[in-house]
Amino acid sequence: MSPSPVAILGAGPIGLDAALACLDAGVPCTVYEAGESAGAQVRAWGHVRLFTPWDLNVSRRIRGHLSAADHPVPYGDACPTGAELVANLLGPVAELPALRPRIRYRTRVAAVARGGLLKHEQIGTGTRAAAPFTLLLDTPDGEDTAEAGLVLDCTGTYAHPNALGDGGIPAPGERALDDRIIRTLPAFDDPDRWAGTVLLVGAGKSAQTAARELAALPVTRLEWAVRDPRPDWGAIPDDALPGRRELVYSSQALAAGAGARTTVHTGVRVRALRPDGDRVLVRLATAVGERELSVDHVVSLTGYTGDATLYRQLQVHECYATGAPMNLSAALLAASGAGADCLAQPAPGLDQLRTPEAHFFILGAKSYGRLNTFLLRTGYEQVDALFAGGYEWVAEGA
Ligand SMILES: Cc1cc2nc3c(=O)[nH]c(=O)nc-3n(C[C@H](O)[C@H](O)[C@H](O)COP(=O)(O)OP(=O)(O)OC[C@H]3O[C@@H](n4cnc5c(N)ncnc54)[C@H](O)[C@@H]3O)c2cc1C
Repeated sequence: MSPSPVAILGAGPIGLDAALACLDAGVPCTVYEAGESAGAQVRAWGHVRLFTPWDLNVSRRIRGHLSAADHPVPYGDACPTGAELVANLLGPVAELPALRPRIRYRTRVAAVARGGLLKHEQIGTGTRAAAPFTLLLDTPDGEDTAEAGLVLDCTGTYAHPNALGDGGIPAPGERALDDRIIRTLPAFDDPDRWAGTVLLVGAGKSAQTAARELAALPVTRLEWAVRDPRPDWGAIPDDALPGRRELVYSSQALAAGAGARTTVHTGVRVRALRPDGDRVLVRLATAVGERELSVDHVVSLTGYTGDATLYRQLQVHECYATGAPMNLSAALLAASGAGADCLAQPAPGLDQLRTPEAHFFILGAKSYGRLNTFLLRTGYEQVDALFAGGYEWVAEGA
């Protein structure tokens, strides 16, 4: 296959939307997807119900392409599960006849570079901008390479969980116990699997969802470790999203002692973990000293940050605080702060998406670095911003 001008990394919702934008622009693209099918990471949390309704989860482009193919387009106030998002939206989009041949599944992009140039060479010059990107691919048939003139990194964050130790580094013992620590949101559909005591670490939406589910299991004692001494659980006044509002209520109630078998430890840090036969001994630092808990399961839901090693050889300027691309991070922090309502975020402009590396963009959940306010709607707006100024410059990247 001759090189496509555009390489899209990841067939999640934002990668697929970007691919449709390329089709609309008449610019050939190739989508490289590590998983077996589209929406592989959404599939991993398929049992979770989104708190945003269909009307916020379907882009203008996706709606147009599915309608044109006479495929039903989900709409309305109902909030789908991740599995429903894949079955009713991402799967059908990926199967569109114009898109299907452009997606290479089970193909992981291991690294991206500028052909012929090292990271520190030709800083910001036209020579650098004109050099094609070279991609290292891990495929079912072994390693391969590809070229592209423009690269859109839409690889998400969910495969890269944060550590649970104090300050975000692994707690002593954490790495040795890695295979015993669950770092993605489980389904909790088999109560017996959760018999005994569960240590849950984290306070974001995934941790709150896990706490609500675990607190309802009759065979489970929940010890919930929360770093903030007085968590507000991300409460938003007059929250327009009922699913998010109810999750906050549930966490507030558990913290107030509503769970018969639940203890919420606020203002604590995980100091260390060590194996104790089939169990794990966890040392927590609290305001009044240290305490040790013996638990059967450890669930760490402390957030996710995208894989920056992928573009390590490129001139990407990351924010020193969030890890997001600098311009976008500065705009987000200035506009709303790290904990603000994701519905109230400003729509991104092309300049905010740019990095010093011409023709390389990070889009989707990964573009938010450590900020957890990303919404699908935001990602679709990023694609709008990228393609809004006409398509010539996209093709010129080739
Ligand atoms: C539990 C959970 C609930 C959420 N709920 C909501 C919600 O209610 N509303 C909302 O708007 N947002 C929600 N989000 C946030 C966000 O919208 C989703 O994470 C969304 O899936 C992000 O889309 P994406 O396309 O950026 O990334 P992803 O969906 O993560 O897709 C990335 C794709 O890239 C692939 N990939 C990864 N690495 C590589 C590589 N090196 N090479 C090739 N392919 C690769 C993956 O397999 C995956 O298919 C939620 C997130 C989580 C985790």
